Amino acid sequence: MNFLEERIQRDGIVKEGNVLKVDTFLNHQMDIRLFRQMGEEWKRRFEGVYVNKILTIEASGIGIACIASEYFDAPVVFAKKSQSINIDGGMYVAEVESFTHKCRNQVIVSKKFLGPDDHVLIIDDFLANGCALQGLISIVSQAGAVLEGIGIAIEKGFQPGGRTIRNLGYRLESLAIVESMDAATGKICFRDQSQPV
Ligand code: 5GP
Repeated sequence: MNFLEERIQRDGIVKEGNVLKVDTFLNHQMDIRLFRQMGEEWKRRFEGVYVNKILTIEASGIGIACIASEYFDAPVVFAKKSQSINIDGGMYVAEVESFTHKCRNQVIVSKKFLGPDDHVLIIDDFLANGCALQGLISIVSQAGAVLEGIGIAIEKGFQPGGRTIRNLGYRLESLAIVESMDAATGKICFRDQSQPV
């Protein structure tokens, strides 16, 4: 098991409805030492890939993306979940359905911060059905930027997002892939990423 899998195994809580709670270290209280290990690992996996912008989505992607940005030496742009009157000069818009909150949001990014010269790494905390990611991919494509890769902390491999995104040909690096989890027993199984798929 890698460092993130070990932490999920130790502190993650499996809830009914396919929800994995990791708020003691990832998306409420945040373990920055762990975030540094994650940033380092993404940097290792994307070695030699030119990245000049990191794109994430509010709120829980922001902390992870900020620490990762230190390893890529690139600024972070986050997609905002609500319409903002403070954005001038136009914006990219995508529709995103929230897995945890079961509602639809528009996410927006100002055109000032993403354009055709950008080589983007998308970073997010979870990948479930892939809606959040599809929204971010749409924004990168609207900007005419190059999507160099996607770094996810926890992919739930039993939900379709990861397969869909890989089938579309994107380079997706999930640090931990949960293959199965059981709310009754609390048991969590991870995909062995040392074997080629
Ligand atoms: P997707 O759009 O891939 O279905 O879901 C991605 C988003 O939903 C993530 O950014 C994350 O905020 C949230 N999410 C999905 N599954 C889980 C989960 O099991 N636990 C937590 N804490 N958040 C999740």
